Amino acid sequence: MVMVLVVLGTSIWVWFDARTLMARIPEEECRKISGLATSPFGWAIGCVLLWLFVFPRYLFVRRQYAVYSPLVSLGFGPQRCPHCSKFYEGLPAFCPQCGQALT
Ligand SMILES: [Zn+2]
Repeated sequence: MVMVLVVLGTSIWVWFDARTLMARIPEEECRKISGLATSPFGWAIGCVLLWLFVFPRYLFVRRQYAVYSPLVSLGFGPQRCPHCSKFYEGLPAFCPQCGQALT
C-alpha cells in the first residue's frame, strides 16, 4: 500500500515537474534529450506503469531539461518565431524562415 502511494505521488510530481520544464523546450529537442517520452503526460504514465525503470530515468533526464530551459529563455538554443512559428537558432535580427524582423 505504501508503495502504491509512493508510485502515484512521484508520478504526479513528475507530471507537473515535466510540464514546467518541457514548456520551454521544442518537442524535437525533448525527444532528443529523453529518447523515451516526449510529453509530460507520457512521463507520468510511464512512471505509473514502469516506476522502477522510468522514475530513475526521469531524474537523469530532468537534469538535462533543467540545463536546457534557462539557456532557451536567455536566447540560446532554438527559439520560436512569433510570425511563422518555426524554430531558429541563435539571435538573428531576421527570421531565417520567413524574413520577418525579430526584435
Ligand atoms: Zn518566421
